Amino acid sequence: MIIAIDGPGASGKGTLARRLAAALDLAYLDTGMIYRAAAARMIESGAEPGGDPEAAGAAARALVFADLERAGLREENIGQAASRIAAIPAVRAALLDLQRRFASHPPEGKKGAVLDGRDIGTVVCPRADIKIFVTAHPETRAARRHKELLDRGEASIYARVVQEMEARDARDSARDVAPMKPAPGAFVLDTSEMDADAAFEAAMRIVMAQQPPSPAQAP
Ligand code: C5P
Repeated sequence: MIIAIDGPGASGKGTLARRLAAALDLAYLDTGMIYRAAAARMIESGAEPGGDPEAAGAAARALVFADLERAGLREENIGQAASRIAAIPAVRAALLDLQRRFASHPPEGKKGAVLDGRDIGTVVCPRADIKIFVTAHPETRAARRHKELLDRGEASIYARVVQEMEARDARDSARDVAPMKPAPGAFVLDTSEMDADAAFEAAMRIVMAQQPPSPAQAP
């Protein structure tokens, strides 16, 4: 079973995808971390993210899964750099295989995978069994991101978070290649008024409606 979860930053898609994977015993891949790791490689090499498509393509092609363990990938400057290189076709092409391989051959003998990102339902796994586009009002997402940063002990200014989020949303939605948008047939899940538990329950209802348990599994 392949579950594709897409949506903008701080929509709750990561938490939701991780919980779905645990509940359904599926492998989980946060594809944003792949773009972040490629951006971190580029920054380390001294190149300007987004300014040098060739270097970005090379950084993406050189990426291995171990790079996802690098420290600091969650930092906002890496997220912004990731969103810059994510608009470069050579970068997306280089990272596509890695993601598809994970989906078709999930690790640890799992019977399927949950992938979250921006283009999983549209490009990476267009034939996914279930596609969910998770979204929330921009102010709600900015407030969540602000709290998340403060909880991590990082300095955060709300107005700046709003600005950075708007810049990233605009870049991710407006790019020519694999723009962020709900896939055809995707369920749109607005989590503005939901906590993590409510979002998980809503998503499980979507999964169960699409994939009812077989008679052998049913109680
Ligand atoms: O989800 P996260 O904030 O970690 O993603 C970082 C950036 O990577 C996004 O802003 C987006 O530009 C890019 N990305 C993407 N396609 C994906 C996952 C992430 O373009 N499937």
